[in-house]
Amino acid sequence: GLQCGIVGLPNVGKSTLFNSISNNKAEAANFPFCTIEPNVGIISVPDPRLKILEGLVNPQRVLPTTIEFVDIAGLVKGASKGEGLGNQFLANIREVNAIVHVIRCFENDNIVHVDGRVDPVSDKEIIDTELQLKDLESIDKKINRVERAAKSGDVKMKKELTVLQQYRETLLAGKNARALQVSEEDKVAVADLQLLTAKPVIYVANVEEDSIHTGNKHVDALKAHVQHENAEVVVISAAIEAQIAELESQEDREVFLQEYGLTESGLNKLIRASYHLLDLITYFTAGEKEVRAWTIQKGWKAPQAAGVIHTDFEKGFIRAEVIKLADYQKYKTEQACKEAGKMSVEGKEYVVEDGDIMHFRFNV
Ligand code: GDP
Repeated sequence: GLQCGIVGLPNVGKSTLFNSISNNKAEAANFPFCTIEPNVGIISVPDPRLKILEGLVNPQRVLPTTIEFVDIAGLVKGASKGEGLGNQFLANIREVNAIVHVIRCFENDNIVHVDGRVDPVSDKEIIDTELQLKDLESIDKKINRVERAAKSGDVKMKKELTVLQQYRETLLAGKNARALQVSEEDKVAVADLQLLTAKPVIYVANVEEDSIHTGNKHVDALKAHVQHENAEVVVISAAIEAQIAELESQEDREVFLQEYGLTESGLNKLIRASYHLLDLITYFTAGEKEVRAWTIQKGWKAPQAAGVIHTDFEKGFIRAEVIKLADYQKYKTEQACKEAGKMSVEGKEYVVEDGDIMHFRFNV
């Protein structure tokens, strides 16, 4: 499944946010089976379309799609040189699909800031620098590997070397790899490195409870600073999230949010931002046994989408039967959709759309 790694300096609210994911009372009810590693929290992606399908199909169970958040603590100044819990944690980041970078935007004299003052831009740069140094190491290692072949006239290696050197210059200039404009073709040169600063990033501006609507000067500074990055800034209050996590029932949560004048939790905002940033969409499977949501990338064809359910579905793919949610709502049953000509039969080239209700036929 999709994994987002939570990073940030100490004392910015990472644990508070992570705990509100992993100790979430409502989620615990959804995933009683879920005891993964202690630094991994799982959260379901809220989707009102599941309720609609549940009403139509009346299944034994409903399973939302999920996102995993990994707590990557221990990132401090000097981590790339092995300080703090350094290297081990940097290795953790390599595995994730996206980075959630938590940044302290709350003032509180009782909570020590590692550098003695609240300065989101400088905080962000400290973390970025550590990740950039690590990427520089990976790039230099690879340059060493391809240099000889490039010099001896290997055309492919020569081209790779040029791309690698572009990345090197970008990083040396204190910029993140994601800032470099590179064609998809050229990106192949660094694909195996899984560069940390090339990963998509969401900045979480953690504010005090009473700034949740207005933001504050720290949020403004952060937003101004990252406006040219292809990134999202999500304003949340980890303190509010911690309180929401304690509430088990949907009704209690709604009352709580209303009291704060909020329409959704910060965690929801974060999930939506991840979907948007990563270009993700959802399709559904619907049967008497279960109604279930699945996450895929926009643009995926039917066999690849089927592979999310099971690799056999992809390997043995024959065809897919597709119903649009609006048609399902109108005709009420699969059979009625079929009779009305609203169930299309699609082959290997079909590009799955957000909200499609899919039924895959496959050989085993
Ligand atoms: P971490 O080191 O980044 O994991 O930070 P923690 O989550 O442990 O938070 C450090 C301190 O800041 C704790 O005392 C939290 O209670 C406090 N804190 C975290 N988020 C907020 C917030 O949104 N507002 C305020 N006022 N305090 C917070």
